[in-house]
Amino acid sequence: MAKKLLFSSADSVSVGDVSFSEDEVVLIAGPCAVESETQVLKAAEEIEKHNLHFIRGGAFKPRTSPYSFQGLGKEGVRILHKVAKEFNLYSVSEVMDTADVQFMSKNIEVLQVGARNAQNFSLLKELSKVKNPVLLKRGFATLIDEYILTAEYLLKGGNRNIILCERGIRTFETATRNTLDISSVPIIKSRTRLPIIVDPTHASGRKDILLPLSKAAIAAGANGIMVEMHPNPRKALSDRNQQMSPHEFEAFIESLRAFCHRLGKEIV
Ligand code: PEP
Ligand code: MN
Repeated sequence: MAKKLLFSSADSVSVGDVSFSEDEVVLIAGPCAVESETQVLKAAEEIEKHNLHFIRGGAFKPRTSPYSFQGLGKEGVRILHKVAKEFNLYSVSEVMDTADVQFMSKNIEVLQVGARNAQNFSLLKELSKVKNPVLLKRGFATLIDEYILTAEYLLKGGNRNIILCERGIRTFETATRNTLDISSVPIIKSRTRLPIIVDPTHASGRKDILLPLSKAAIAAGANGIMVEMHPNPRKALSDRNQQMSPHEFEAFIESLRAFCHRLGKEIV
C-alpha cells in the first residue's frame, strides 16, 4: 500500500477564523433539515444569541423511507446560504451526490458527508478537489480503520481541511438509535492529527441525554459537538423527537459552557 498521508498533515484545520484546537470546543447547531427561510432565520437568531459561529441544516436529506421528507434540495441550500450570510455564520450542510458538489461548494462553507455515504468513494474523490472543509461522518457500520481510510481519500486528492465526526454505530442496543462509540475519539486522536467532533443527536436519537453524551465526548477529547435544534421541534419534518427547542438548547449550552470552563476549555 502507498504511504499514508494522515500523519504528515500537520497543518491545523480551520473554518474561516475558527480553528480546531485543544482548548476550544466548536459547537455546531441547527435544524435537522432546512424547511423554510423563517425556520432557518429563527434558528440563526438562537445561534447568534449564544455567540456561536456555525449553523447546520440539511437540504438534501438521506431518508430511510422514500416517502419521508427528502429536503428542499437546491432551494434549501440557497436559504441556508442567505441566512448564514446575513448572520455572519458558517454553514454546514450535507452533500449526497457528486453532481451537487460544485453547487454546494459555492454556497455552503462546510460540506458534510453523511453516515450513509461514509464509504461513497466517488463522492469522497470529488470532495477531495474542493477547497471547502469537509465534515466527514463515520458510517454506522464503518470500522475505525476503515473510517480513517475514508479521510485518507480526501487527503490523497488534496483536501486537508477535514473534520471527523463520530455519530454512533449500530449495535444490538435499542434504547438509543445508535450507540455512541466514545472510544473512537481518543483512538482517532492518537492515530491522526485531524480534529474529531461528536454528534450525540444522531448517536442517541433522543434529546434527554444530549448533555451527558456531550460532556463525555469533550472529556474524551472531542474538538467539538454537533447538535440539532429546531425553532419548533413538534412541527419538524424530520427527526422530530431528537431536536432541542430554543429553550432546551439554552439550558444545554449553559450547562455545557460551565462544564467546559471547569476543564479550561471554551465553547466557540
Ligand atoms: C445529519 O447530520 O443530518 C444526518 C443525516 O446524520 P447522519 O448522516 O449521521 O445520520
Ligand atoms: Mn437529523
